Amino acid sequence: MANYDPNNIFAKIIRGELPCHKVYEDARVLAFLDIMPRAPGHTLVLPKAAARNLLDIDAADLAHVAAVAQKIARAAMQACGADGITLQQFNEPAGGQVVFHLHFHVIPRQNGVAMKPPASVKEDDGVLREQARKLAAALAGA
Ligand code: AMP
Repeated sequence: MANYDPNNIFAKIIRGELPCHKVYEDARVLAFLDIMPRAPGHTLVLPKAAARNLLDIDAADLAHVAAVAQKIARAAMQACGADGITLQQFNEPAGGQVVFHLHFHVIPRQNGVAMKPPASVKEDDGVLREQARKLAAALAGA
């Protein structure tokens, strides 16, 4: 497996060098909206620690990321009026990973509505801003 690259796009977002539509942040985790969502409210949950994927992350960091993903899933059920949640996580190119900083996809789902293909349509900034606001508010009230 390749080494962690500190210049990957998510590392730059964590360092504040690139913008994001933030949903949640604590000392060890950052969560923000996917700019090419597979469904409205599609959120990425990342450890701040330098981890390429599931194969090299520290177990305690993984446990915290999973706990935050659960909180976001619960908040998204309310904030996005979801009927269910799809959780995805990819490892290495063979596993479908494109950005090499570990992240979980939390994808709110509606009954009978298929997900868009991965990275197919860039969502409007104003739409993302409003979804991030709603999700952050639901999390704050949770
Ligand atoms: P994967 O590594 O296969 O889990 O895919 C990376 C995901 O990151 C895709 O769903 C992209 O739409 C998403 N993505 C890529 N660049 C950005 C960005 N700057 N901000 C938010 N999401 C991004």
